[in-house]
Amino acid sequence: MVSRVIPVEPFDLIIFGGTGDLAKRKILPGLYRRLAAGQMPDGARVIGAARGEMDASGYRDMVREALETFVPEEDRDADSIDTFLALLDYVPIDAKGEAGWPELAALVRKDVVQAYYFSVGPSLFGDLAARLHKHEIAGPQARIVVEKPFGHDLESAKALNASLAEHFNEDQIYRIDHYLGKETVQNLMAVRFGNMLFEPLWNAQYIDHIQITVAETVGVGGRGAYYDKSGAMRDMVQNHLMQLLCLIAMEPPSRFDPDAVRDEKLKVIRALDPVLPHHIVRGQYDALGEEPSYREDAGDPKSRTESYVAMKVHISNWRWANTPFYLRTGKRLKARASEIAVVFKETPHSIFDNEAGSNRNVLSIRLQPNEGMNLDVTIKEPGPGGMRLVTVPLDMTFADALGPDVEEVPDAYERLIMDVIRGNQTLFMRGDEVEAAWAWTDPLIEGWQQRGEVPKTYDAGSAGPEDAMMLMHRDHRRWREIKP
Ligand code: NAP
Repeated sequence: MVSRVIPVEPFDLIIFGGTGDLAKRKILPGLYRRLAAGQMPDGARVIGAARGEMDASGYRDMVREALETFVPEEDRDADSIDTFLALLDYVPIDAKGEAGWPELAALVRKDVVQAYYFSVGPSLFGDLAARLHKHEIAGPQARIVVEKPFGHDLESAKALNASLAEHFNEDQIYRIDHYLGKETVQNLMAVRFGNMLFEPLWNAQYIDHIQITVAETVGVGGRGAYYDKSGAMRDMVQNHLMQLLCLIAMEPPSRFDPDAVRDEKLKVIRALDPVLPHHIVRGQYDALGEEPSYREDAGDPKSRTESYVAMKVHISNWRWANTPFYLRTGKRLKARASEIAVVFKETPHSIFDNEAGSNRNVLSIRLQPNEGMNLDVTIKEPGPGGMRLVTVPLDMTFADALGPDVEEVPDAYERLIMDVIRGNQTLFMRGDEVEAAWAWTDPLIEGWQQRGEVPKTYDAGSAGPEDAMMLMHRDHRRWREIKP
């Protein structure tokens, strides 16, 4: 089979915050992997930029160490690492001052794709955009990449959008949500819109409900004080869960092109009903042995910030009328697992006695760990002894069917960075999407604050607060098991 690595044009990628945690953990290892996979074009350069004083050789040493720490040994190749390090350069720069900008201007090439990765706190986004403009560094091909959190409410998101829009057009701005870079998220779109089989059933008539779960085993640990200003709703629901919900619920776009896809996602967010207070459960994890409770991690014994949230959401349109979407996400849960489950209705009438199977098809899309897609189907249990039914998962990942030469699935960051270089915004959030998501989220958060609601405590290592189970039980449904 021919290699599926699609070449990209030569580029200069400037990583502001090139010495930070995200750069070391994700961006630089991702770029190294693309080089090892043969996708790095001749003439590609990666320029780290941060306030720390060092030269290119010092930066290469730092990046070598990062690769040794964050790229598994089996994926490291000495020659590829040397080739990668040779692409690197470094400029000491201050986003808030003038130091380093003339040097960067002299280094960056105007005749190749320029990508500026803002891997710094959002408070610096406006400064960086303004100085790139002032020093006439960013050419017409320039793209900027920004990370979450994109604001902490509608007002701050609008201010961020405005500060970027002052110097860059929307088609130059790439807002990363790494969930959108996952292989199975794209496969979900392929399955929905590349087959006749699913789309006719993809509506309230055939789908009973949809569950979206993003469960983590880690607590907030050292980030406690920072996280306490945010909480699960802002940190996870407003962005990641909302994006997944959009892809599941959106109408078929007319084309697989960035604005056609994002227009449809935006319509979903705008069609979301306000969530009733009794359809939301918030929680905080309790201490377990030596492990501190959420409030201890947050350093605030009276904290009212949620480390867990579950909710029942309705989309007011023809396709989804009366089909609930149940969302939940939390920290210190029993397993690390992210999954979307599309639970179809039961067959209207059963012709079989003594059924063992549930007669319910479930399409489960697993994002982590072990990305993949399964369809639960009911079949006859093989063998003699009459008609016994059993529900078995049909693996829809089909990696085996595509042969042994399929390129290893790139990590979400690798894929997204290469999409930036290609100029493809399909898997990035548009400014109006982000604002619409905040416009839906803000009143929910304000409501808790006004009512002075205190999150329920849940056992660390459990599936979340008891009330979240009741949210489902009241509707005669149940959450899927959270399992690794
Ligand atoms: P970090 O470890 O604190 O790194 C921040 C980087 O910014 C450092 O390289 C720092 O270097 C540089 N910096 C700070 N002030 C600067 C200034 N005035 N001018 C130029 N450079 C400056 O943060 P991070 O964890 O990498 O996160 C970066 C961004 O990504 C944040 O917005 C974060 O929310 C987001 N994010 C991070 C992760 C993650 O896994 N880490 C995941 C999702 C999103 P100097 O201090 O030397 O200047």
